[in-house]
This record gives sequence, structure tokens and C-alpha cells, in this order.
Amino acid sequence: MTQITDRFDQVRAQITAAAVHAKRSPSTIKLLAVSKTRHADELRQAWSAGQRDFGENYLQEALDKIEALDDLDICWHFIGPIQSNKTRPITENFSWVHSVDRLKVAQRLNDQRPKGMPPLNICLQVNISDESSKSGVLPSELSALARDVASLENIRLRGLMAIPASNDDPQRQREPFAQLNTLLQNLQQQLPSAPLDTLSMGMSADMEAAILEGATMVRIGTALFGPRDYSE
Ligand SMILES: *Cc1c(COP(=O)(O)O)cnc(C)c1O
Repeated sequence: MTQITDRFDQVRAQITAAAVHAKRSPSTIKLLAVSKTRHADELRQAWSAGQRDFGENYLQEALDKIEALDDLDICWHFIGPIQSNKTRPITENFSWVHSVDRLKVAQRLNDQRPKGMPPLNICLQVNISDESSKSGVLPSELSALARDVASLENIRLRGLMAIPASNDDPQRQREPFAQLNTLLQNLQQQLPSAPLDTLSMGMSADMEAAILEGATMVRIGTALFGPRDYSE
């Protein structure tokens, strides 16, 4: 119990230190707790430590936790790969989706968003440096996709997300994050009426580099909950 609380305190301190280094206000950086593979009880402990935003990658696992934690005011973010035949439970149960990389998925999330719920917040996932990854829209195709997604009425296009290839060099880590920031600035020019305020970038190993390059949401799993065990 105390361990999770201590880890949250540590990560929040790391975010604050990186923000100070970047001459930014720590309040401009939201901590998204990535809780894939973690039990509902661990999320409940994190909630008791003040955490409200949780990110999940696997739909069925996420739906089980959403039900188990129904009594808590949690903002749920979907950050995993999306199969287009699974969009309905995503748009019915989440407030944010960070991993949209094609129009068909955005259209289905839009069309299936329940009446009476606020628009779904979306980030477009960009394939920024990891050519081996099949996820993410290519930078050259981002502008056309963003224009089409921004026109959907049940969607709020909030910004961009990326998972760069891993790199141990803190200086080199900054390059793809800087590129993502530039892409967001270009979109802000292109789509002045879209609420484009979000750069979802930075994980346990590179959160400082991401914050130095303008991250507004860092997605942290291991540093908060410890190493993941996929064997179960
Ligand atoms: C697992 C995951 C994270 C968190 O990674 P850690 O290295 O454990 O902090 C962040 N973003 C996405 C998309 C993930 O799948």
C-alpha cells in the first residue's frame, strides 16, 4: 500500500523537477497512470493516493476493471491498438482514446458514441521514429487525417500521441518528441478551431525528455506500479 503511494510521490516529484528544468509550470503536465496488467486493487490504491486518470491497452481487461471500480470517479483513457470491430465498447466506456491512426476507426468511434455523453477526446497516434511499428499514421499523412477527424461532431480532436523507438541517450530521446511538437504546432495553424492542446508523450524511461519537449500528458506504468508480469 505505502509502496504505491511512495512511487506516485516519486513520479510526481520527477515530473515537477523536469517541468522546472523546462521552465514550465508542473500544472501543465498531466500524469496518466498506465495500469495494464495491474489488478483493480492496485488501481484503487492509486486512486487513494490521488490519481484520477488511468490508461489501459487491452479492452476486455479494461472493461473488467471499469466495472470493478464503478464506485470511483476515474477518467479512463484507451491507449492500445484498436480493432475496428471493437470500437463500440471503447466509445461507450472511455473518455479519451490516444491510439487512433485511421479514419475508419475515428468514424466508428464517432458514430457509436452514445447520445448524452460528451464528445470523445481523441489523440492521433503518429509513427514518428519507429519504422518497425505498424501503429501510427505517417507524418506525411497526418494533416489529411486530422482534417477529416476534426470534422466529426462527437469527437474532440485534442492532439497527438507517439511511442518513439527506445533510446538510452537522454539527448537523442528528445528528437522524436520535438518532431511531434512541431507536427502539433502545424496542425494548430491548419485547424485553428480544433481544441488541439495535448501532446501525449513520455513513458517511464523517457518522461524527462518528453517534458522538455512540451509533453502535456505523460503515460507512466512501470515507474508507478513496478515491473509488469505478463505470465498470468
Ligand atoms: C505500456 C505503455 C506505457 C507505459 O510504459 P512504461 O514504460 O511502463 O511506463 C505508455 N504508453 C503506452 C502506449 C503503453 O502501451
